Amino acid sequence: MILVVVEHDAGAIATTSLEALTFARALDAEVHGVAFGDGGEAALETAGEFGVRMGTHISIEGGYAPAAWAQVIVDLVASSSPSAVVAAATDRGQELLAHVGARSSAPFVANCVAAEQGADGWSVTRHRWGGSLLEDALVRAPFAVLSVALAVVAPDAAGEPAAVTIDELTPSASADDLRARATRVDAPGGGARSLTDARLVVGGGRGVGSAEGFASIDALADALGGVVGVSRAVTSAGWRSHAQQIGQTGERIAPELYIACGISGASQHMVGCRGAKKLLVINSDPDAPILAQADYAVIGDLHQVVPAITAEFERRRG
Ligand SMILES: Cc1cc2nc3c(=O)[nH]c(=O)nc-3n(C[C@H](O)[C@H](O)[C@H](O)COP(=O)(O)OP(=O)(O)OC[C@H]3O[C@@H](n4cnc5c(N)ncnc54)[C@H](O)[C@@H]3O)c2cc1C
Repeated sequence: MILVVVEHDAGAIATTSLEALTFARALDAEVHGVAFGDGGEAALETAGEFGVRMGTHISIEGGYAPAAWAQVIVDLVASSSPSAVVAAATDRGQELLAHVGARSSAPFVANCVAAEQGADGWSVTRHRWGGSLLEDALVRAPFAVLSVALAVVAPDAAGEPAAVTIDELTPSASADDLRARATRVDAPGGGARSLTDARLVVGGGRGVGSAEGFASIDALADALGGVVGVSRAVTSAGWRSHAQQIGQTGERIAPELYIACGISGASQHMVGCRGAKKLLVINSDPDAPILAQADYAVIGDLHQVVPAITAEFERRRG
């Protein structure tokens, strides 16, 4: 049996957790979901479509507290003896699993793209260097803690959705385990949609030139129903918030189309968008490295090209 941590936003299951559930189902047909907080039952019911038959909904005082949440998982491991604990390699997933690994003295393998349990332990393939290298490793342990690299496994429903039997757990946490906890969550304002789940992303880089220059990037994203992402040059310049950054130290995206405007294609940026199905590049430099990975490209000044695409799209839409 595999224990999977299911992340959700008020009951709406995260796409990254659907990826983790799909990954776990390939390891073992028996997948047990664990969800914390309000809406956790709804998330576990959705997880039923991805192969979960048993779930544990945990109501614990206060918000996210990594040590307290990890201790609950460690206790579940002790009582249910899974062969692995799996979560998506989100910031929260990585933090939680690091605590679980430390507390259960189990190996934690981060950013897995494949895993298989054999007689000698767990054979894993995982991302290194932000996904630019793949490492094969044998983890000599009967029980492992695995995070699943983002935007690598396509979420795949398990066929017939089934009802999930959900246990309710209301553990108490020690004061020590509550020393670090989230006391407030600031949701991105302005009805911002998630970059991770977006089907279309319009990215802006240093080539946009200024915070004001993003008006045309925003307009294109609005016209196409997409979400705006940025390179680190943009967040470092203070033009946009870090929540919008794509890359090694930002978000991983997997849209149908990524339109990268004024972005050169540094490896740290490209690891964040390698899940994109198609890449359209708009860049004034015909030798920009990003062009090597483009499906389509327009060589030109984005300040002319981007508004022209928006205008043409709106003209055709009528
Ligand atoms: C440890 C580490 C982690 C990092 N993490 C990330 C990360 O998560 N995400 C990330 O993005 N970067 C990250 N970086 C930074 C990364 O190395 C690059 O510096 C950054 O991605 C460059 O951003 P850029 O492509 O917007 O800017 P530049 O490299 O300066 O490229 C600007 C591009 O705009 C084009 N351009 C200029 N003017 C125009 C115009 N008018 N019209 C069209 N095109 C134009 C240029 O030809 C150029 O190709 C990280 C770096 C380190 C060391």
